[in-house]
Amino acid sequence: MRNVVVMSGKGGTGKTTITATLASCADTPLVVADCDVDAANLHLLLRPENDREQRFMAGAVPSFDSRGCSLCGICVSACVYHAITLRHGQYQVDMASCEGCGVCANICQDHLITMTPRMTGYTYEGRSRFHQPMVHARLCIGQENSGKLVTRVRQLATETALATGIDTVLVDGPPGLGCPAIAAMTGADMLLFVAEAGAAGAHDLARLLDLRRRFGIPAACVINKADLDDVSRADIRTRCACEGIPVIAEFPWSPVFPESLRQGRTVAEIGDTGMENVFREMWTVLRKNGAVA
Ligand code: SF4
Ligand code: SF4
Repeated sequence: MRNVVVMSGKGGTGKTTITATLASCADTPLVVADCDVDAANLHLLLRPENDREQRFMAGAVPSFDSRGCSLCGICVSACVYHAITLRHGQYQVDMASCEGCGVCANICQDHLITMTPRMTGYTYEGRSRFHQPMVHARLCIGQENSGKLVTRVRQLATETALATGIDTVLVDGPPGLGCPAIAAMTGADMLLFVAEAGAAGAHDLARLLDLRRRFGIPAACVINKADLDDVSRADIRTRCACEGIPVIAEFPWSPVFPESLRQGRTVAEIGDTGMENVFREMWTVLRKNGAVA
């Protein structure tokens, strides 16, 4: 099985639009997964019908049994996040400050603090409107642990691929270099970077390339808004060439991209732009580079 993960140095580069259009033009069976869980929007373009919704639990929260509490304050002193406060004669936890480390529960000799799992989001499994199995997720407001949710979405997508005999998983990855991006990169067989021409885009790509080098994962690159800055476009091409990474497509700035988002459709479905052929050719190149079985 091959995992192709589409990534970018920051949000707003066209990553999700390109992932959705790649999925819609695929000439090979795919499982599609949206791992950009902090700002999931692939479902807005692929509009899946969900068959299954599951709660996602990550981390834990402490709950106090105040009945036997001697108010000794040991748990308060032990909490380096200052999350435990005395209110109305009882110790309570400020959930916004609590990191769920469990130190308080361990240190209370009277065992008055219990750690219980915390629900941080939902996962959804179904089929995209292009009839591909699709997994996506929603992180609850204010919740973190998105790296764990990314891993869960990847896991569900892999299980779906194995169950359906599909060899390729196409992942819309999280932007940036943080924990969710590392979780998406882990186990990937091919990374497809989307870089926007511009000084910031070239810089973001350089940081992604550095991270990729540490993982040693094969990669390819797509340059979006390629005609907006010739110097940066050349810079991106040079950086990719130095790393042995092919630039498999360049898209000039086009109103088709924002229009596709406005209509909730892929760019291949907007007008007679020839985009479908471009994306089909991208699959051919990805296959030659070993990204697709
Ligand atoms: S779980 Fe950790 S962070 Fe939360 S209240 Fe207890 S000691 Fe503080
Ligand atoms: S350590 Fe236990 S007994 Fe002491 S204040 Fe905390 S909950 Fe109460």
